[in-house]
Amino acid sequence: CADSAMYHAKESGRNNYQFFTTELNVRAQHRYALETNLRRALTEQEFLVYYQPKISLETSRIVGAEALVRWQMPGMGLIPPTEFIPISEEIGLILPLGRWVLEQVCRQTCAWRAHLAPDIVVSVNISPKQFQDPSLCKFIEHTLQETKLPPSALQLEITEGLLMGELDLLLPVFESIKKLGVSISLDDFGTGFSSLSYLQRFPIDNLKIDRSFIHKIPANQDSVVLTHAIIAMAKALGMSVTAEGVENAEQMLFLTDSGCQEMQGFYFSQPLPVEQFEKLLQNNRQL
Ligand code: C2E
Ligand code: MG
Ligand code: MG
Ligand code: MG
Repeated sequence: CADSAMYHAKESGRNNYQFFTTELNVRAQHRYALETNLRRALTEQEFLVYYQPKISLETSRIVGAEALVRWQMPGMGLIPPTEFIPISEEIGLILPLGRWVLEQVCRQTCAWRAHLAPDIVVSVNISPKQFQDPSLCKFIEHTLQETKLPPSALQLEITEGLLMGELDLLLPVFESIKKLGVSISLDDFGTGFSSLSYLQRFPIDNLKIDRSFIHKIPANQDSVVLTHAIIAMAKALGMSVTAEGVENAEQMLFLTDSGCQEMQGFYFSQPLPVEQFEKLLQNNRQL
């Protein structure tokens, strides 16, 4: 496609306008195709939920997992969420997709708790559009009842970006989720630009240190200082801390020494399809 844009640009004799419009057309077509396929993907059952383990540093066991959605488009392989979540938000697909993910996760977690991991807690990413949906809480309540999953087994991961909107409207949503008994984690913590006062204002249970900090420890002094500060702040406010993006033993040891309770990252495991995640849980129990 890029070649054909080039071809047109050359053909029209260094006509940059022609080049750009052709390139824009190609992109628009690509985007249109993606959108059309995405709209069908839910009814065609092309989404999958992968699970990445969360490890407790105290016990070195799997205590939780993060659910991460994937799109298996026929002939296109596995498409990562970074490529389709933003479009899903724009075209309004995020609400039905988010509900589908929540329901899958509740069913799956209930099955694991019955047979493999009685205490496992699974977290689900919730984008701002979903969080602002007035029926979110009712849907979660209904799904927990349907699947018979204890609310404490479910955690919602939200990002700081959400907290830059109308805070007065958000507070009742937080409160009704807390009332259900579902916990809330602040994902990618440290990358947003919102005021820290929201940590007091909202009932947040867990801070998830963004992987951009973890990536640079222990070599980068600034990242070391910030990671320590985040852990200290979380403790002072009575929240637990999770480090994401742990890729090597050095990072793991640094975080252990720093008093971080929970870790997640390629060092332990990639996000896995259900059957492979279950193998980890089986070994987890035998340990
Ligand atoms: P996130 O919630 O911050 O998820 C963590 C991302 O980091 C995942 O990417 C995961 O595969 C990746 N990761 C985990 N460990 C490591 C590591 O050690 N090193 C590196 N470099 N990366 C690591 P993934 O699965 O591509 O998801 C990307 C983002 O898409 C998520 O970021 C989340 O914001 C969004 N997302 C995923 N699933 C859902 C979903 O069901 N609903 C919504 N609304 N958003 C989702
Ligand atoms: Mg997350
Ligand atoms: Mg994250
Ligand atoms: Mg992230």
